[in-house]
Amino acid sequence: MNPNFKRIVRLFQKLPGVGPRQAARFVLALMEKPDAELLDLGKAIQNLKKEISFCPNCFNISDNHQCIVCSNTKRDQGKILIIEKVTDLDSIEKTGLYNGLYHVLGGAVDPLDGATPDTLKIKELVSRVDNMLKINDRLELIIATNPNTPGETTSLYLKDLFQNKKAVVLTRLARGLASGSNLEYADEITLKNALEYRK
Ligand SMILES: [Zn+2]
Repeated sequence: MNPNFKRIVRLFQKLPGVGPRQAARFVLALMEKPDAELLDLGKAIQNLKKEISFCPNCFNISDNHQCIVCSNTKRDQGKILIIEKVTDLDSIEKTGLYNGLYHVLGGAVDPLDGATPDTLKIKELVSRVDNMLKINDRLELIIATNPNTPGETTSLYLKDLFQNKKAVVLTRLARGLASGSNLEYADEITLKNALEYRK
């Protein structure tokens, strides 16, 4: 195989869920594109970290400092919905039913995948909760990790971590979501029910 082709294929393989065959398909598809489009893509990748960053509070994607949710003072400051990924945040925002804040963990505890509480934004969540309790008498943490093994492990870990804080009310979303399914793929009605009937 051509060494240049191989090199680009290997770069694509570094993306989550992309195997060698799919990576090769991506490269072949790009070769069909006009030069201008490739240049656009190249520039977008080059400036990625300059143009998009993570919100320092909740780790949502943001184009400047605080994200659109954190900078909206009309949002309920007494609720934090804890999710694995930014795409989960988008799914919940689309329902239009949730008016509180978020915290994006950046994944779930999964030792087989190298994800431990230390690699997730859990320390940041603890200090954020402590800071918020200085101005709130009561704070609801809605755990909305996925209903699969890593998601449940994370949920138990978080419950353990916060259960001794009297001002914190812990609830768990995802009841009603099919076991093993991802929040990201849940339809809006299922998400609405899961939000409304959280326990
Ligand atoms: Zn934010």
